[in-house]
Amino acid sequence: CGIVGIIGTAPVAGKIVESLKRLEYRGYDSAGIATLENGRLTRVRASGKLKNLEEKLATTPLSGAIGIGHTRWATHGRPTENNAHPHANDRVAVVHNGIIENFRELRAELTAKGHVFSSETDSEAVAHLVADALRTGATPEKAVAAALKRLKGAFALVFLFEGENDLLIGARRGSPLAVGRSDEGAYLGSDALALAPFATSIAYLDEGDWVTLTREGARFHDASDALVERRFQPLTAGS
Ligand code: GLU
Repeated sequence: CGIVGIIGTAPVAGKIVESLKRLEYRGYDSAGIATLENGRLTRVRASGKLKNLEEKLATTPLSGAIGIGHTRWATHGRPTENNAHPHANDRVAVVHNGIIENFRELRAELTAKGHVFSSETDSEAVAHLVADALRTGATPEKAVAAALKRLKGAFALVFLFEGENDLLIGARRGSPLAVGRSDEGAYLGSDALALAPFATSIAYLDEGDWVTLTREGARFHDASDALVERRFQPLTAGS
């Protein structure tokens, strides 16, 4: 329901929680964060309020300087910790807003190929679909571009990749997604409010866009994968 991604220079879990709090108004039933620690994906998730996630983070801190976070409003699968986002495997972690309508078909196909599902959600199919392309040697960009073409439904997605300390990929179809920048980092979020404490400028993905985000900048692609310009506007303090 609420999505955040941050590429920073210091541990980002605290900032991700702060952003997720600004998305609480949308409603949610569980929450989670994934970061990269020494290039490895690490996750903490909790059902219920963000306070539950914060309590878990206090005993199991995440030290990564790049990460993604999510507040979930369950549509497919109960609001348990196991169904909370991010969904992950040994290659990629994903947070998802919306509904993947063809997830049953994708799940059957990917299970037949040997992917092991560990949740009841529609979203997990996206993580395995991207991992499947990465396994065959595709770059993260190519893997996401190929996966997006297979998805039916409405979504905002943000991906974090094992071993990629300076890359997030975001995609938008039917659910909004914003990109923020500052001297200290690069950000993705469901709305400007989520990014307001950190970003100094903001751009919005158009319908069908996907974006590769690094500390250096953002490369926007439209639904046909062509490079496109999306304009950054200054984000005024206090918004
Ligand atoms: N359909 C997904 C799920 O149930 C995402 C729900 C959301 O937008 O939070 O996990």
